[in-house]
Amino acid sequence: MKLSYKPYTLQLRHVFTVSSSSRVSTPIVLVEIEHEGIVGYGEASMPPYLGESVETVCRFLEKVDVKQFNDPFLVEDILSYVDSLSEADTAAKAAIDIALHDLVGKLLGVPLYKLLGLNPANAPCTSFTIGIDTPNKVAEKTKEADEYKILKLKLGSENDRELVEAVRSVTSKPLYVDANQGWTEKQAALDEIYWLSEQGALMVEQPMKKERIDDIAWLTQHSPIPIVADEGIKRLTDLLEYHGAYTGVNVKLMKSTGIREGLKMIHAAKSLKMKTMIGCMTETSCAISAASHLSLLTDYADLDGALLVTNDIYRGTTFKDGRVVLSGLPGIGLYI
Ligand code: MG
Repeated sequence: MKLSYKPYTLQLRHVFTVSSSSRVSTPIVLVEIEHEGIVGYGEASMPPYLGESVETVCRFLEKVDVKQFNDPFLVEDILSYVDSLSEADTAAKAAIDIALHDLVGKLLGVPLYKLLGLNPANAPCTSFTIGIDTPNKVAEKTKEADEYKILKLKLGSENDRELVEAVRSVTSKPLYVDANQGWTEKQAALDEIYWLSEQGALMVEQPMKKERIDDIAWLTQHSPIPIVADEGIKRLTDLLEYHGAYTGVNVKLMKSTGIREGLKMIHAAKSLKMKTMIGCMTETSCAISAASHLSLLTDYADLDGALLVTNDIYRGTTFKDGRVVLSGLPGIGLYI
């Protein structure tokens, strides 16, 4: 097997603002693993707040020696070896995991969901994300998202209620709310959650800073709608440590080190009676297509990452009236 990679910059359609930061682009690294003339594609996406960069990802990939493995079907051995190379680097590890799953599916001539025994008829609707902006812009973006049945609204700024009202002036669609750790006081957060639930919010993601685990657990206990972890739960070990504080977990391949551990997290969360969500960063259709296979197992899907960029370079999983549509092609299902 041969590993190659190159950096790329995703340009965002709109300035993307969440409670902690704004940005106009996202650095990614595109990865390929080749075996006997067949190529598997993968990707690492590094939004700056997660601590990885083009430099750290390339430095990690430089260390990975896939040549020692002659058999790409030894997925457990290969990915355990990759994970053992460092503590962190979850996006870099995800890039290899995705490329390897793509390669294995292509070598067998079957889509990943078939390898995992999943039913494509269970495809959910994705939410479409509206970043923090002025109320007028938020109303405008809400109109642009007409095709999508569920909106994910970023909150945690000064004027949360104005933004919700701006959305509600345009549509009565259900909302997922993501506070990105932006709320600071638990009683005020709970009052806000009650109000949001009356406004049609179905759940709230990461209401407060992940370190404030007792306050989050209190919110979860008192909230009328599910409280879902994002920043607070990255990998399986975090899920096992913090599951009691949340109703659900947003699994993202860039946090979980990819499909292999993401799948374990979804199964673990289900056995802990938690709600499950599959999410994404801003990514090309490569990582989105990979994640879309796991959406066949989850309660919620937020797979709009490639829709928010202007220079996607792959085609794979698409959306029809907001619903996830897998391409049915082998591996993760990309058209090249
Ligand atoms: Mg989130």
